[in-house]
Amino acid sequence: MSTRLKCIFSLYRTHIMTRQRLKVGEGKISGYVAIFLSILSLLAILCFKFPEYLTTPDFRAVYTEEIVEKLLMFAILASFVFALLSFLLSNNKKYSVIALILCTLAIVLGGFEVQGRSVEKVSWSLGLDWLILDLFLMALIFVPIELAFPKNTKQTKFHPEWRTDLIYFAISHLFIQIFGVLTKRPAEAFFGWMDLRTLNEWVQGLPFVLELFLALLLTDVFQYWAHRIFHSHNYLWRFHAVHHSTQNMDWLAGSRTHFVDIFFTRSMSFVPLYIMGFSTLTFNVYVVFIAIHAVLIHANTRINFGFLKYLITTPQYHHWHHCQDPTYYGKNFAVVFPFIDYIFGTYYLPGNTWPEGTGLTETAFPKGFMRQLVYPFKANPFKSKLDPSEQSDR
Ligand SMILES: [Zn+2]
Ligand SMILES: [Zn+2]
Repeated sequence: MSTRLKCIFSLYRTHIMTRQRLKVGEGKISGYVAIFLSILSLLAILCFKFPEYLTTPDFRAVYTEEIVEKLLMFAILASFVFALLSFLLSNNKKYSVIALILCTLAIVLGGFEVQGRSVEKVSWSLGLDWLILDLFLMALIFVPIELAFPKNTKQTKFHPEWRTDLIYFAISHLFIQIFGVLTKRPAEAFFGWMDLRTLNEWVQGLPFVLELFLALLLTDVFQYWAHRIFHSHNYLWRFHAVHHSTQNMDWLAGSRTHFVDIFFTRSMSFVPLYIMGFSTLTFNVYVVFIAIHAVLIHANTRINFGFLKYLITTPQYHHWHHCQDPTYYGKNFAVVFPFIDYIFGTYYLPGNTWPEGTGLTETAFPKGFMRQLVYPFKANPFKSKLDPSEQSDR
């Protein structure tokens, strides 16, 4: 068979497999979408009712009341439409019935009438608004991409550990305010005495593109070394191993990060942001870019981004970092720019080849959020399997 024919055959086979995975027309996808939207609607109603405690001042400044009121109305209506679609298409009516009950509850609780109001200042609040909107947006972008262009075609959305990853996603969003304050502390403590006004004014006077590049580059260099330190020290590796413990790479997998890892890595990345004092616009674009890009590089998608993969990290690049084969440990620490790995000798991107599997093979890492939270404090997960020299160079 000619190479061209083989290629066409392979594309056709992938297309067939994708369609089997999609299961379009069975009413399952519409059922899941309906339940997902109705749960988000119910949570959004809680935000409208208790904004002091469930929304964050920083994030409230990003959206207007009118937009979120309309979004809520749209979500409830869309949920109804998908629930009806699922009811008509599916033999199993449980998805549509659950969604219809949740939708009705959202309307009874005032989903179509809620209105934003002025919010009293309180010391601490949960970032439920941030959780709802980011979860909605990330699911909207990445679930269709993963369904249409999956890398691992056997992996389903509801793999055995998706709930664990969702809990990580929820916790990191709900406690965004506390994480934010804590991760700023080290930079403020070490560099708060310096007069940085001249430097900050110079940085803010740079063209936007250059300022953004500088923000991404400097944070990535700091993040690179924080990440590498977590890999090369036994005690710290216990915490970062949580992030590597998933065998199911997807859009939620990147959220699986121990809070010690979050605190240390984000604190390091915040140092250049604090010293340079980037403009608000640059900082906001930087945050949005990092939030979407971090999800992308963990996603279960075979999209390879052509020549761009040499300029910016892609799913293939970061999946190699998660490779379960010890031969490839200690590669691709950079989060945004591959050339940082290149400079420091840890770059690995073999053409269009992907790792055979991801995760940790050295040990049966504990499953579940609470166990993973406590485990690194109690034990070295690799003690019995690896000798010390191997442990210190993952
Ligand atoms: Zn790592
Ligand atoms: Zn990762």
